[in-house]
Amino acid sequence: MRNFLNERATELQQGAIRAMFDRAKFFPGAINMGIGEPDFDTPSEIIEEGCIALRSGKTHYTANEGIIELRSKISKYLGAFNIEIDPENEIIVTTGGMGGLALGLMVTISPGDEVLVQDPQWLNYLSQIKYLGGVAVPVPTYEENQFRITAKDIKKKITDRTKIIILNFPNNPTGAVLGYDDLKEIAEVVIEHDLFVISDEVYSTLLYDGTRHYSIASLPGMKERTLVVNSFSKSFAMTGWRVGFATGNRQIIEKMTRLQENLVACVSEVSQYAAIKALSLMDRANEMTEIYKVRRDIVIAGLNDINGISCYKPKGAFYAFPNIKSLGKDSFSVANELLEKAGVITIPGSAFGSCGEGYLRLSYANSQENLKEAMKRIKLYIESSI
Ligand code: PLP
Repeated sequence: MRNFLNERATELQQGAIRAMFDRAKFFPGAINMGIGEPDFDTPSEIIEEGCIALRSGKTHYTANEGIIELRSKISKYLGAFNIEIDPENEIIVTTGGMGGLALGLMVTISPGDEVLVQDPQWLNYLSQIKYLGGVAVPVPTYEENQFRITAKDIKKKITDRTKIIILNFPNNPTGAVLGYDDLKEIAEVVIEHDLFVISDEVYSTLLYDGTRHYSIASLPGMKERTLVVNSFSKSFAMTGWRVGFATGNRQIIEKMTRLQENLVACVSEVSQYAAIKALSLMDRANEMTEIYKVRRDIVIAGLNDINGISCYKPKGAFYAFPNIKSLGKDSFSVANELLEKAGVITIPGSAFGSCGEGYLRLSYANSQENLKEAMKRIKLYIESSI
């Protein structure tokens, strides 16, 4: 029989995170610090709203761009970040942040276009770009600068094929956050070189120590040059509802809507009603952020108490990115040893790009009790094996 797969599909590979979870199945007692997903259940008020929606017949297709009630709420929500958005024409409700990213990249990348992506970065960007025939160009970021991408480093990677920059703050895997001045410098480069920004802001409510979220779309002249991608997954513990949104350049939103119409029609109507409820419950999101902060402090203190490991305090998301260079082993080996010998699931930093080598990603979306036990296990194993 012929191979019916096309060339691009043939090349699709399982990502390093899933590969780690497959290995972890053989270690049932392992504590999971690998997963990038809230351990909380969705707040009960949101679940109740979903049930009400189901019972009242909200079980149909909706407009391809999503229900106007939700788009209006999103537009109000974005107003707090100084982004003026017309809910009728400049928002699309998507299948989580991933749906927004995929549609956004599908309507902008032509084969051969270069897309700048920070290194280390979330794995899915590279596979989406490659699948569409684009070329991902890594922009290095460094621990000395808490892995914040800089305008200077972006500039060095611009060629006449560069079209898009993907920004992701708060960042997965490093927890890095960009301030207003950082964004201003990046916006200047973007405008000077006539580029487009995809700003992945799915962790925008997960900020600590009084840190504020700024979107590059709020800077002068940037809304038209930006697609903001956001999601209810992380902020409201709604990963399974698959609901997010994208906003910004009107022409791009309009084409994403046409593509969504042809690919999947719309996001589940129930999830859209639940998302409206979520936006009226910012307090619940903030409560979860407070809990993540306590967990972050436990994990960062725990890591810095281990000989051979050091870790800066991330200001956002729910990941620690400790430096393990002095252990003298690559991050893949260390992550495997921690799984097999210490019983803790972590992700090797190298999975996120070459600048991630020498680091591990540890998610603190887990209970305090489990995190404390994980820190004990890692300390015992590392200190007895070096
Ligand atoms: N962007 C980043 C940086 C992520 O880490 C994730 C999920 O892990 C997503 C986007 C997409 O999440 P969702 O599609 O559930 O909104």
